[in-house]
Amino acid sequence: MGNLIDGKIIAEKIKEEVKKEIEHLKSKGIIPKLIAVSLGENPASMVYMNQQKKNCEKIGINYEILSLSENIDESGIIENIDRLNKNQEVSGIILQLPLPKGVDTRKVQSKISPEKDVEGVNPTNMGWIVYGKPFVGPCTALAVKEIINYLGIDLYGKEVVMVGHSDIVGKPVALLLVDKFATTTICHIGTSDAGKLEEHVKRAEILIVAVGKANLIPGDWIREGAIVIDVGINKVGDKIVGDVEFEKAKEKASWITPVPGGVGPITTAILLRNTVLLTKLQKGV
Ligand code: NDP
Repeated sequence: MGNLIDGKIIAEKIKEEVKKEIEHLKSKGIIPKLIAVSLGENPASMVYMNQQKKNCEKIGINYEILSLSENIDESGIIENIDRLNKNQEVSGIILQLPLPKGVDTRKVQSKISPEKDVEGVNPTNMGWIVYGKPFVGPCTALAVKEIINYLGIDLYGKEVVMVGHSDIVGKPVALLLVDKFATTTICHIGTSDAGKLEEHVKRAEILIVAVGKANLIPGDWIREGAIVIDVGINKVGDKIVGDVEFEKAKEKASWITPVPGGVGPITTAILLRNTVLLTKLQKGV
């Protein structure tokens, strides 16, 4: 039966290091400050931001929300981003998604200065992943890599299957692992529609799933002894579940992340780490 990968333990380890860095910054009179740009009233986003605020303040990062009207247009959002880019007191910018209809998300993300891009969504920071030199990358993708490092897995020649090809999870994860010479397959809707998802999943020594569909991966597809990293977050009734049929999958996996309590807490810790890394870069520390 699979061992549980406790995301909170890994997150705590990262936070300990971040805390030390923040103390060092404070000794130089520098306090990192994050600004979350939020558009309109979105209750889910509000819950998420309050959680971020709590996490930041606990560790010594100032956190403020910049609430903009949901009727603001693309150039209005970009003007606000520009202002934050120029503000020396702001260390990092988080852009809450989704943006209103008609606004080009990638264009707005590309306007966040790479030096303040704590979520690693600017094309420059994405590009560093392609070059195999991730500095601040998308937090969830780096969280997946952190789990693999924590387990001490040598990726060389391993069969990795990544289900989902989003810009912030699937694609960067695949690139990060390919760089360590894993044989990496990326599956997506085309794979499912071609009826081939099962055959790919069944040969995965490391399976990562980031889709957002509860029970997309039945437990009996899991290869004996596989490592299963489930990024998905789905609400089923009043429960939060991942994309993998957890109870059955854990009978076959050697290691498996629970949902919640797996990738999520590590993602948050990486956001804090990105903030500190960028603050140090900006201030030349
Ligand atoms: P996206 O919706 O951007 O991407 C989902 C991906 O899944 C797409 O590549 C999509 O392909 C693919 N897909 C959809 N249906 C299928 C299918 N039937 N078979 C195979 N692939 C499919 O989502 P994100 O990457 O942003 O997030 C994925 C999940 O991870 C969500 O549940 C989200 O809530 C969660 N998440 C969790 C985080 C954490 O910290 N734990 C952080 C970020 C996200 P196509 O585009 O071709 O349709």
